[in-house]
Amino acid sequence: CGIVGYVGPQDAGARPLDVVLEGLRRLEYRGYDSAGVALVGPGLTEVASAKKAGKLANLVGELEERPLPDASAAIGHTRWATHGGPTDRNAHPHLADDGRLAVIHNGIVENFATLKAELVADGATFLSETDTEVAAQLVARAYRASKDLTAAMVEVSNRLEGTFTLLAVHTDLPDTVVGARHDSPLVVGLGDGENFMGSDVAAFVAYSKEALELGQDQVVTITPTSVDVVGFDGSPAEGKRYTVDWDAAA
Ligand code: GLU
Repeated sequence: CGIVGYVGPQDAGARPLDVVLEGLRRLEYRGYDSAGVALVGPGLTEVASAKKAGKLANLVGELEERPLPDASAAIGHTRWATHGGPTDRNAHPHLADDGRLAVIHNGIVENFATLKAELVADGATFLSETDTEVAAQLVARAYRASKDLTAAMVEVSNRLEGTFTLLAVHTDLPDTVVGARHDSPLVVGLGDGENFMGSDVAAFVAYSKEALELGQDQVVTITPTSVDVVGFDGSPAEGKRYTVDWDAAA
């Protein structure tokens, strides 16, 4: 239901997690039943993640009991369950590629049953009942083949039917977050040596009022110093730059 992404310098420390939790707090008004975060950073060989059913306070409690390491990039999610009950296991992020990839998703993958059957026939095992985990496993397979996370997101976006905002991080790319948008909102927040993503500007307006709204059927790749947009056909595209009106966003 709510999505936040952040990427900063390699020594960003606790900031990625702090930015993402603050963003999730500001998206709480939308309603949700679970929350989770995923971090990547230099030296992390697996995604560091935490996810809990219930209020954000449950996730924060879990993070106090089991603190996550410093990171350079983070994604965060609040879930409104559509496929699979509101449990810890069904909360996002969903991990794949042996824990090296994390995906979060707003929306519904309508053709998930067909895709899941295909993946199971190919030997995949699922840890949740969500439609989202199908997308995570598809991105993992596409990434393993191409070693290009942006291209993998483009490829998978073309296979999914329904509505989605998807964000992905991979431990191979501690300075990158990739997002995709189809009939579901995604906005980039432009920073100085750091960049943001949100399902809504509320997710990052505390940090940046310079925004780039993606068009439908676009994939965006952010690093601390770059923002690159392509269409679902893989060709370069452009978002729409604007400055957030603080009063309207508050
Ligand atoms: N369909 C996904 C799920 O049930 C995402 C729901 C959402 O938009 O939060 O996990």
